[in-house]
Amino acid sequence: MNTIYNATLVEQFWLRMQAGKKAVLFGHKNPDGDALGATLAMAQLLENSGLSTRVIVPDAFPGFYSWMPKADTVWVYDGNEQACEEAIQQADELLFMDFNQYGRLGNITKNIVLEPQKVVLIDHHPNPCSDVDMLFSHPAASSTCEMVYRLVAEGNKHDLLNAGIAACLLTGMVTDTGGFSYNAETPDFFGVVSALLTAGAVKSEVFNQVFYNNNESRFRLLGTVLQNNLSLNYSLGVAVMWLSASDLERNGFQKGDTEGFVNMPLSIRGIQKSVLVTEHADEVKLSFRSQGDAAVNGFAEKYFNGGGHRNAAGGHSKESFENTLKRLMKNLEKL
Ligand code: 5GP
Ligand code: MN
Repeated sequence: MNTIYNATLVEQFWLRMQAGKKAVLFGHKNPDGDALGATLAMAQLLENSGLSTRVIVPDAFPGFYSWMPKADTVWVYDGNEQACEEAIQQADELLFMDFNQYGRLGNITKNIVLEPQKVVLIDHHPNPCSDVDMLFSHPAASSTCEMVYRLVAEGNKHDLLNAGIAACLLTGMVTDTGGFSYNAETPDFFGVVSALLTAGAVKSEVFNQVFYNNNESRFRLLGTVLQNNLSLNYSLGVAVMWLSASDLERNGFQKGDTEGFVNMPLSIRGIQKSVLVTEHADEVKLSFRSQGDAAVNGFAEKYFNGGGHRNAAGGHSKESFENTLKRLMKNLEKL
């Protein structure tokens, strides 16, 4: 397998993670399988190295991730601010996993200042923030979970792995690639999958928990969006889908129900880009997806305060749902 890191940096990382230290590991707002997998796996690797750890995420994660090993130890900041802030204040190390900017920590960085000299950032999004003390950035990686496995392999730390850690890492590699359907092209990607299966991860368990464990509300919402809330512009090759707060409420929306909807129109011949606009209580959220060379992250950044990868980006708007949709439609040819 090819290496992806500077060997000295890998050595420095493992030396830095000394027994007896306290580490807080952060995943991004709206935590997904990769953010949870990477933080939970790294926390267990560090525990196995003698550190004490706490995983903190800004807000709640979907119920279909609660089976993940040690998911019950994750602290959600919103609603548990004081305990989280105490843990953060006492930490020697702050690990940022699967995000590239302080702003992706939602209310955490709105309320408190995180000391950059304590921060280690491990992430596969392009353009990582440089105001950190140690940086592992690899935009070509399928997932942050793949990057964590490679930190183990390139640091010769295989003895720290176990089946639970391998299951967490496989989860991020499965969810960030849509079940191995995109960003999963290289022999090395499957080399990592193979190593995780050898370490005890069970592929069918991950697929069953993540893809065959849906709420009825997800199915009802999918019906609504496909039947009534989909607009196809073939001359631009763009699909736009939307879900208003009342669509969500009527169908009994639960967090995570709309995961993956935005990818679906890409299966229509002639559609290369897809957008989902969702009206949440505090903001309107936009998700962008594209295929091949078509990029969506620049548009998300320029028009909707967001960013992300070339083929998968997100953004948000404080305007009304209707005005957000109007502004999107008006600028659609720039996407
Ligand atoms: P999703 O559509 O699944 O929420 O996000 C797709 C990708 O875009 C993810 O890689 C995510 O990290 C990134 N992303 C989503 N929302 C935002 C945002 O508000 N700001 C930035 N910078 N990136 C985002
Ligand atoms: Mn990721």
